[in-house]
Amino acid sequence: MPRTSSGKKVTNNKKVNKKDVTKLLSQWSQEFTVFVPWRDTGVAKWAKWDGKDTSFLDWYRNTVVPPKAIFLPQMEEMFSFQKDKEGYHIELPASDEQKWLIFGVRPCDAKALAILDMTFNDAYEDPYYLAKRNSGVLIGLGCAKPRDSCFCTSLDSSPTDSTNVDLMLTDIGDELLVEAITDKGKELMAKTSLAQAATEADEARAKEVKEASYGKVTRKIDTKGIKEKLLSCFDNKDYWEKIAAKCISCGICTFLCPTCYCFDINDELVKNQGERFRSWDSCAFPLYTKMPMENPRVEKWRRLRQKVCHKYEFYPINFDVIACTGCGRCIRLCPVNWDITQTLDNLPAEEKLKLEK
Ligand code: SF4
Ligand code: SF4
Repeated sequence: MPRTSSGKKVTNNKKVNKKDVTKLLSQWSQEFTVFVPWRDTGVAKWAKWDGKDTSFLDWYRNTVVPPKAIFLPQMEEMFSFQKDKEGYHIELPASDEQKWLIFGVRPCDAKALAILDMTFNDAYEDPYYLAKRNSGVLIGLGCAKPRDSCFCTSLDSSPTDSTNVDLMLTDIGDELLVEAITDKGKELMAKTSLAQAATEADEARAKEVKEASYGKVTRKIDTKGIKEKLLSCFDNKDYWEKIAAKCISCGICTFLCPTCYCFDINDELVKNQGERFRSWDSCAFPLYTKMPMENPRVEKWRRLRQKVCHKYEFYPINFDVIACTGCGRCIRLCPVNWDITQTLDNLPAEEKLKLEK
């Protein structure tokens, strides 16, 4: 194993001093639009880096608004149109050619992007989403302080899961340990002189941090057979009514869920010109599923059932993956303390029994 000039054994990974993160982001800004966690009037979201502020390294646990908003903005122009004697003329919005780099995404949110890709790059390829999503780098930052609402370890992930990122960072004190996960990540690190080889002691510290953060995720759910359990109690109106009783249909749990993607499309027309745009919508809203014949989810319990079953039953049927990452936002941010883990834990016993027979 190679050694540093002071004789310490080094590994294949790198490390970057936190004091050099500003310089590192400045270098990357030459090639990418860099996104970092940002507090906008107190609410943590993703924003384009301002070229100097790296204070998020101290305060950031996770953003309230997930990174899906970068690729599926809350409101997005699809095209503008103009009518004249010859008919309608359509103009597409200018596309941003700059590649993006997201610095510090949590493993749960990186996984959520991979889940969203399944929807937007399936039988129908969404050109707006894919134009943005296809050209960037994801830099993960392990979660040292998971919240009590987090349950990622019940969903094949962990606070330090590097599966869906190009580079994975672990906070080891004054420095960040850097693991290159993909070729893209390796290329990025090869271009900078700000990183040094990590030593065996750095790796040992990172291991400790990872184990400690894993242990801090104390909320657990049992996902074994969850799809079948939900299927078996799909028509249990009493259960879903009880579960939905306190919900006020505010939509927060869907707007801020990193894997929810429902949107509505509208035209805004002034005289002979206008814009078609899409904006986030929510299955929690009574008007969301309004159709010419009828609304199949008039009652609140049907809408809440939809949210749960979409994630834990329908998505696994379609894509073989649970569309929940255990990020805990829907638990943390619900104004009436509705809790998806309680809903899943308390599925009616008789329904579970039917399955076991
Ligand atoms: S955040 Fe809570 S109250 Fe609002 S729709 Fe979701 S479950 Fe209902
Ligand atoms: S359902 Fe809740 S815990 Fe799961 S990904 Fe969405 S917001 Fe996170």
